[in-house]
Amino acid sequence: MKLIDLHNHTTFSYDGVNSCEEIIENALSKGIEVIGICDHQYSLGSDIGEYIRTVNECKRKYKNKIEVLCGLEIGTRPEPRDLVMSSIKDIDYCLFECLDSPVSMDFYEFLEWVKLFDMPKGFAHTDIFSLSQRYGIDIIKIMKENNIFWEINTSGNYTYYYDFITNKEKQEIIKKSGLTLSVGSDTHWIKDLNVNKLKSCQDLIEKLGNPIIFS
Ligand SMILES: [Zn+2]
Repeated sequence: MKLIDLHNHTTFSYDGVNSCEEIIENALSKGIEVIGICDHQYSLGSDIGEYIRTVNECKRKYKNKIEVLCGLEIGTRPEPRDLVMSSIKDIDYCLFECLDSPVSMDFYEFLEWVKLFDMPKGFAHTDIFSLSQRYGIDIIKIMKENNIFWEINTSGNYTYYYDFITNKEKQEIIKKSGLTLSVGSDTHWIKDLNVNKLKSCQDLIEKLGNPIIFS
């Protein structure tokens, strides 16, 4: 399977250091085969059209070298009121972040809202096991029913990653559930990208049976 990294920020995000091309060149040099640019919706605001055009230009420029995807990371603390659905129709996938935060939007309200998004969608850096506990519900089952994939975020900023890669019981639960998984480096600066972590995480999600596939 191709090496995929679905979570990378450019200077379109307030906290991104590199341009889209720099992210892609770095990915190419590290052997990544599918690279997802996934900037913060709240940073983009009305620049969203320019963002999509920039990523699409890179798609064309690198066509025969690497597959480039245009993603969008959407905050949920609270629901973004300025998001115009028609402006994101050309987005390849969305990552929703921070639903496990105590100040995020209510999960049941989220489930209604997420129906508006008809592209592939996933949870970025979210501890879905603690989310299940908080609401007393089977989040994995609900994610499956709503076609939501789960990102294993290798940035090292989220403890659920270390828990999951070492916890065989949780891995078995995910394997049995058939939940789709993705891997994201959450790169904000190319010097931070650790491709070995990305590769071993991809090996794990392939072993668990349902890695996300694009084209
Ligand atoms: Zn991010």
